[in-house]
Amino acid sequence: MPRQFFVGGNFKLNPTSRAQKQALVKVLNDADLDPNTEIVISPPSIYLIPLKEIVRKEIKVAAQNCYYKDSGAFTGEISAGQLADAGIPYVILGHSERRTLFHETSEEVAQKTKAAIAAGLSVILCVGETLQERESGATTKVVSEQLDAVVKAIKEEDWAKVVIAYEPVWAIGTGKVATSAQAQETHLAIREYLTKAVSSKVAEDTRIIYGGSVNAGNCKELSLQPDVDGFLVGGASLKPEFVDIINAKK
Ligand code: PEP
Repeated sequence: MPRQFFVGGNFKLNPTSRAQKQALVKVLNDADLDPNTEIVISPPSIYLIPLKEIVRKEIKVAAQNCYYKDSGAFTGEISAGQLADAGIPYVILGHSERRTLFHETSEEVAQKTKAAIAAGLSVILCVGETLQERESGATTKVVSEQLDAVVKAIKEEDWAKVVIAYEPVWAIGTGKVATSAQAQETHLAIREYLTKAVSSKVAEDTRIIYGGSVNAGNCKELSLQPDVDGFLVGGASLKPEFVDIINAKK
């Protein structure tokens, strides 16, 4: 079966007011969106439920993080079960900002992935190398190690609930997008990794999306690559051009 094109909007710590949130949703609700693309938007947790209530039904909502424990003395955390109970279907895990600024290890990301899937959520699992790692030729090794932890933590059938977001750290929020050849090369390497580490079925079926300075101008060419199954979009997801990115395949 062909892999459905997927576009996610990672709003990060935006919008900064309820009025801005309303405006963002209006752009999406009024737009002509490709019905063949799965669309997921990810606001800060305080806006998850209100946003879900006003956005058009075919757009899904994702949390930007969750904790791997179900409940207890973990001040400030939200569990996967609580997200599921609130009707939130997706969670972004392992974003490079969480790995770098909040010191999340690949093992923690794997535990969170396992907990999210057990709660019934789907996961947008982010991996990617730094500029230094790319320049030293370590991209595939770094990405494989990030995935290794998840491979150990979840079962083969769980991969149906995972979308892998390849997000080179040097491309996130920098305006320096990977070339379509660079994206394709790493996506193919991830697929080859999945064949060896999990199974050829998982390698064939798992969507691998690209993230890092995607915009209306570069999305079409990236979307033509055979192993690029969509995008995770940060900055441009807050602008009207997000609609053009959603419609990249149209
Ligand atoms: C992101 O934060 O996931 C991202 C890809 O950001 P940007 O599109 O702004 O580079």
